[in-house]
Amino acid sequence: MGDDGQGAGMEDVDLLVVGGGKGGKTLAMDAARSGRRVAMVERGMIGGTCINVACIPTKSLVTSARLLQRIRRAGEVGVRVEKAEADLPLLRAHKEGVVGGMVDINHRQFIDSGMDFILGTARFVAERTVEVDLVDGGRRVLRGADVVVNTGTVPHVPAIPGLAEVSPLTSESILRLERIPDHLVVIGGGYVGLEFAQMFASFGSGVTVLDRNPRLLPGEDPDVAEALTGFLREDGVVIHTGVQVERVSGETGAVTVRLTDGREVAGSDVLVATGRAPVTRDLDLAAAGVEVDDRGFVKVDDRLATSAPHTWAVGDVAGSPQFTHVSLDDYRILKANLAGGDRRTTGRLVPWNLFTDPELARVGLTETEARAAGMDVRVAKLPVAAIPRARTTREMRGLWKAIVDRESERVLGVALLGPESSEVLTVVQTAMLAGLPYPALRDAIIAHPTMAEGLNLLFASFAD
Ligand SMILES: Cc1cc2nc3c(=O)[nH]c(=O)nc-3n(C[C@H](O)[C@H](O)[C@H](O)COP(=O)(O)OP(=O)(O)OC[C@H]3O[C@@H](n4cnc5c(N)ncnc54)[C@H](O)[C@@H]3O)c2cc1C
Repeated sequence: MGDDGQGAGMEDVDLLVVGGGKGGKTLAMDAARSGRRVAMVERGMIGGTCINVACIPTKSLVTSARLLQRIRRAGEVGVRVEKAEADLPLLRAHKEGVVGGMVDINHRQFIDSGMDFILGTARFVAERTVEVDLVDGGRRVLRGADVVVNTGTVPHVPAIPGLAEVSPLTSESILRLERIPDHLVVIGGGYVGLEFAQMFASFGSGVTVLDRNPRLLPGEDPDVAEALTGFLREDGVVIHTGVQVERVSGETGAVTVRLTDGREVAGSDVLVATGRAPVTRDLDLAAAGVEVDDRGFVKVDDRLATSAPHTWAVGDVAGSPQFTHVSLDDYRILKANLAGGDRRTTGRLVPWNLFTDPELARVGLTETEARAAGMDVRVAKLPVAAIPRARTTREMRGLWKAIVDRESERVLGVALLGPESSEVLTVVQTAMLAGLPYPALRDAIIAHPTMAEGLNLLFASFAD
């Protein structure tokens, strides 16, 4: 601890990480293991959002929902099961067991790395300097030779009249729910909203999804988005698109959502899934000379540098695509740049998955995007039912689609809507990274019967 005249108790470190998300915690551990003095401040969620209240708990519950659906259809594969139902205390125990285990592992790794892991809320007081209100009481002031902001995002609750009064659920509070809603009205049909919608429909809730876009997943090709919408409807999810919520009234247990077209949707609970807001409001970034955009995200260049010297930002808060694997890639970029390199975010190939049943796995361009860019493309489509593995598992819902450049034969993008698509996606992504022409996937010897084998069929299924 040193005092250089900037205030009693100022502690200087080589690297100060503010917020322990995926990119920041990985960088902090890495730097600490290599012998640098590192402090990481985390206000409460050891391991960050993904582990505590996002990817990991939701995918744990998706597992339960899928199993329930599978058991309900067990007769199709010759297995008689008397009864299957969701048991909320057991669901919570399952989810909390997975989360708790990962939090413990993270905590141990933080300590073992040699970093100074500080539980408390940080606020900037000067360039590269934060004041931390410690969870256990007391205060510390730290300054980093380099500082990384990794404070993430939180659910955004829009200013709809009456919404706050009905205490709407968010993606975080729904994970702590004490009961399975009779009827969940989901405002927002994006990825978060759709995963919860189908999950709670499986658990026995009535579910209505309201979305302002003319169709779900407006960024996807219409055929893919419509296929998924159809499967959700088959599973009992009521979907209204092209609607605006005017106001919400009632109370938890009996809520009415009034739409601007005069229709009313009744439910027991409302889940708001209308996007996420950056955690920057109370950070006093101005004191550090760090600029934010008009929505509050930290402005960074493509090397992840902010407007202040030696101050960087990674993950959701930096406006990066909101995925854990992107925050991890931000870590790789920053690690290189802190070591004097010049690695950039431009041109990254970012895959992602929507963990509905069936899954939608995506990488690269859609057909719509490729054609809008004036590219000469060929499009291949394959019903999942054509894949032998899908027939053996009787999981035949889905559609695979690939877009390739006519001239170079390189894969520009795929949308794989089907079971286990998230695993198969990486095969295509790897081919794209390697710049392989599509016949390499069409003609590869792929073990039979696997879902990946469907790639042989997909890349032999061009319409022209
Ligand atoms: C329901 C849901 C499901 C999702 N599922 C997936 C998925 O399946 N796959 C996927 O890739 N992505 C998924 N995401 C997105 C993913 O969770 C985020 O993109 C990812 O967690 C972002 O990580 P991050 O590094 O930006 O920071 P975060 O993990 O958000 O970490 C930020 C940390 O900073 C801390 N913090 C904030 N302010 C302060 C402060 N002032 N002082 C100290 N600490 C502070 C916070 O407590 C938090 O721990 C999901 C998101 C949601 C909401």
